[in-house]
Amino acid sequence: MDYRWLKHFRDGSAEERDLLGGKGANLAEMTRLGLPVPPGFTITTEACRHYLETDSQVPPGFWEEVDAALREIELSRGSRFGDPANPLLLSVRSGAKFSMPGMMDTVLDLGLNDETLPGLIRMTNERFALDAYRRLIQMYGKVVLGVDGDRFEQAIETIKRETNRAYDVDLTPADLRRAIFGFQEIIQEAGATFPAEPMEQLRGSILAVFRSWNGERARAYRRANDISETLGTAVNIQSMVFGNLGPDSASGVAFTRNPSTGERALFGEYLPEAQGEDVVAGIRTPLPVEHMAEDPAFAPAYRELKAFGEKLERHFTDMQDLEFTVEHGHLWMLQTRTGKRTATAAVKIAVDMALAGSIDQSTAVRRVLPEQIEQLLHPRIDDSLEVDVIATGLPASPGAATGTVVFDRETACERAEAGEAVILVRNETSADDFPGMLCARGVLTARGGMTSHAAVVARGMGKPAVTGCSDLEVDESAGYFTVHGLTVHTGDALTIDGSTGRVMLGTVPTIAPGLTADLETLLAWADGYRRLGVRANADTPEDARHAHDLGAEGIGLCRTEHMFFGEGRIDAIREMILAETDEQRAAALARLEPLQVADFTQLFETMHDYPVTIRLLDPPLHEFLPQDEHEIERIAADLSQSVEHVKTVIASHWEANPMLGLRGCRMGLIYPEITVMQTRAIMRAAIDCAGRGIRIEPELMVPLVATTEELRRQRALIEETAATVLAETGVEIDYRIGTMIEVPRAALLAGKVAAYADFFSFGTNDLTQTTFGLSRDDSARFLPTYVEQGILEADPFQILDQEGVGELIILAKERGRETKPDLTIGICGEHGGEPSAVEFCHRIGLDYVSCSPYRVPIARLAAAHAALGEIARDK
Ligand code: PEP
Ligand code: MG
Repeated sequence: MDYRWLKHFRDGSAEERDLLGGKGANLAEMTRLGLPVPPGFTITTEACRHYLETDSQVPPGFWEEVDAALREIELSRGSRFGDPANPLLLSVRSGAKFSMPGMMDTVLDLGLNDETLPGLIRMTNERFALDAYRRLIQMYGKVVLGVDGDRFEQAIETIKRETNRAYDVDLTPADLRRAIFGFQEIIQEAGATFPAEPMEQLRGSILAVFRSWNGERARAYRRANDISETLGTAVNIQSMVFGNLGPDSASGVAFTRNPSTGERALFGEYLPEAQGEDVVAGIRTPLPVEHMAEDPAFAPAYRELKAFGEKLERHFTDMQDLEFTVEHGHLWMLQTRTGKRTATAAVKIAVDMALAGSIDQSTAVRRVLPEQIEQLLHPRIDDSLEVDVIATGLPASPGAATGTVVFDRETACERAEAGEAVILVRNETSADDFPGMLCARGVLTARGGMTSHAAVVARGMGKPAVTGCSDLEVDESAGYFTVHGLTVHTGDALTIDGSTGRVMLGTVPTIAPGLTADLETLLAWADGYRRLGVRANADTPEDARHAHDLGAEGIGLCRTEHMFFGEGRIDAIREMILAETDEQRAAALARLEPLQVADFTQLFETMHDYPVTIRLLDPPLHEFLPQDEHEIERIAADLSQSVEHVKTVIASHWEANPMLGLRGCRMGLIYPEITVMQTRAIMRAAIDCAGRGIRIEPELMVPLVATTEELRRQRALIEETAATVLAETGVEIDYRIGTMIEVPRAALLAGKVAAYADFFSFGTNDLTQTTFGLSRDDSARFLPTYVEQGILEADPFQILDQEGVGELIILAKERGRETKPDLTIGICGEHGGEPSAVEFCHRIGLDYVSCSPYRVPIARLAAAHAALGEIARDK
C-alpha cells in the first residue's frame, strides 16, 4: 500500500525530521542501520497539522492507512492486536521535530482488555500482565480521557499503604486487580469509559497525542525554547517490548558520553524489572549502566549496547542519548537522539571530537552556542570555604544556586516574578513542574537519578540541580522538608551545588569561574573565524584583568565615574559636583587627579598592546548625589558646611529627568576643568607607561554628544590640554579622540560628527532609551507586561532592537564612513555581549563589540558563529 500520512520505520531516514519528528526519523535511521528496533511506523507531522487546522478532522483515508500499517507489524511480530490468544501490544508516543522531553503525551500497553489479558498472562506472567493493564488504564484515563492523574496515584498509594508495600514492583496480583477495578471506577466517576476495543484505544491515543501539541505544558516549553507553534508532532506507533518481565529484563537510558562532564564513556542508568517510564520518572533510584556488565543476565546486552552507542555516535557524529529495553536478556533499542548536555560537556565533547578528527574545528565551534557558555561563567562555590552540608544528592546539573525554598510551581513563579531567587524542592519533578523550574534558580529533588526529569530538564535550562537526595523527606503540600532532624520551611534560604550534589543551609558565597582548558581551546579556534574585535567594558583594574584573562582585546569603555564608586572615593566626586565656586571645584578635582592617574596607569598596564577607551565623566547626577541623611551629614562635616546648606546645594542640582539632564559631555562643556583634569590624568598615565616601555593605545571618548559643536569644542580642549602635558615632558604619545553615538541626533548627523572623531562607539543603552523615549530607570515597571502581551518581542535594553535602534546604527555607520572611510566603529552598550546583537554588528560591518568582562567569551563565540553563519550562507 502507498502510504500518504505515515511511514514504516524501514522506509524513513534521519533526514526526514520535519515530517517524522526527531524520534521517528531516528527510529527509522536505527532500523536502516540494522539495529534491533521493535517494528513500527510513524504518523507524519502533516497528519497532525491537518487535524489541528481542520477542527479535529483526520485526513481522508487516514484510518485505513493505520489499519494497513498495523497489519504489517502484526505479520512481522507474529501476533495480533486484540488477539485473546497471542495479543500484540502497542505504544503510542509523540515526537516533534525538536525534542520536547515529557511535554507531550504517551500511551503504553495498548491492546489490553479483559479478553486479551489472560493471553498475556499465559505468555508472560500474571503479575506482569496485570501491571501492564493497570498502567494502560491509568495512562489512557489521564492522557486520553483527561481524568486527574493524581487520583490514580492516590489510589495506588492507598493500596501500598494498606498492604505495607514500599514500591510499585512489590504490588501482588491481588493488589493490581484491586487497582484495575479502582481505576475503572475513577474513570466512571469522571463521566468517561475506558474503551475495551483495542482499535478504539489506538485511535483515541493517536488523537490525544495530536491534541497534546497544544497542551499547556507543551506551549510553555515551546515559548521558552523558541520552537514554532505550527510544526505539529509526529506520532510513533510501535510494538511493545517489556523491561519488566523478570530479573533478566530491564529498562534504561544511556548517553554515549557523560552529559555533565563530557567524559568519553557510556554513561547512564538502568532499572531491572522496570518499564522505561520508571527510569525517567525516578520512581526508584536506578543503577549505573556499567553495572550491567557484572550481571550475567545483562552482560551480553551491555556489550551490544556499547557497540551500538559507538556506531550511532559515529553515524550521527555527535553524542547520543539512547533509550533501551532488555527483554529476557535481548536488547531492544527504543530511541536515539542527539544528547542534551551541560555547557561544560558541550565544550569538552566538541573539542574532543574535533581533536579526534570526527568533526572539523568549525563544526566544533558551531556546536557550542554562545548562550550556552554563559553557564560556565556562572558562579561556583569557593572550594576553600568551610560549608555546612545538610545533605548530599546527585550532582545532576552543575553550578551553584542560592535562593529561598519553595515547594510548588505556583509559589516558585509568584516569588520569582516578585524578584526573589527561589530553589524549587520536590520529591521528584514531572512535566507539570516545568514552569516552576523555569522560574527557579535551582532544583532539588529527593528522588530520581541523573537522567530523571529534574536532571534532564535542569541541564537543558542550564540550571543547577541536585537530584536523588534521598535523606530528604519532603512534604510538598505542607511546605517543608526534614533532613537529619532539621526542618526547612518555605521561605528559608538554601544553597545547592549541582557540581557536587551538596545541599547547604543559608546563603553560601560564590566565586566567578575562569576559562577551562577546553573552553580556551574552543575559543582560540573561534577567534580564527571571527572578524569582529571583542573588547570589554571595564572600569577598574580588577575588571580589566578579569576581562584580559577572558580574552578581551582591549577596553571599549571605561566609565570613569564608576572609578569613584569605591569606599572613600565617592566623596571626591560628590565634592566636585557640589562645589559652588571654581576654587572648590578645582580643589576637588585636584584630589581626583592622582587617583585617576593611578587607575589609568593600571588599566594601560593590564591591557598593554591593546586600545583602552576612556570615557570622560558621564555622571547622571541622581546616581551620585547623597540621599541618605547620614551621608549628607558626613559630607557637610568634610566640607565644613552646615547640613542645611549642603541640602540646599543638593536641592539646587535636582533634575526632573536626570538621564536627560546635566550629564555626558554637557558636564565637560559647562565645567571644562573636568575635561582638562581627566585629559591630564590620561596623558600622565600614558607618559608613565610609555616611559617604562609599555605599548599603549589611549583613546579618549566624549559621551552623549548631540551636536557637532559639542564634540568640536571638547576635542579642541582635549588636544590643547594634551599638547601642554606632552610639551612639558617632551614625550610623544599617539592617542585618539572619539565619541559615543547614543542619541538619535548624533546618529543622524554622524556625517558631520565624524569630522571631529577618530572613532564612534554606539552607546546602545542610551540610544535605546532615547530612540524609544523609554526611561532606562523606570521601564522595568511595565516592560515585562509589554513583552508578556507581545507588544514588544523582547526587552530592548536586553536584546538590541535591530529594526529601530539598529536602523539608526546602520545610518550613522554609513554617514560616518562617508566622511571618514577609516573611522573605527564599535558598540559598548550592554548589547555588546548579547549574541543576536553581536551577529548584527558583524553583519553590518562594525569593527568591534565591547561588553561586560564575563560576557567576553560569549561575544568571542557569537562573533565566530556570525562569521561561520555567513560562510555557510554564501556557499
Ligand atoms: C550606553 O549608553 O550604552 C553606554 C554604554 O553608556 P552608559 O550605560 O554609561 O550610559
Ligand atoms: Mg550612555
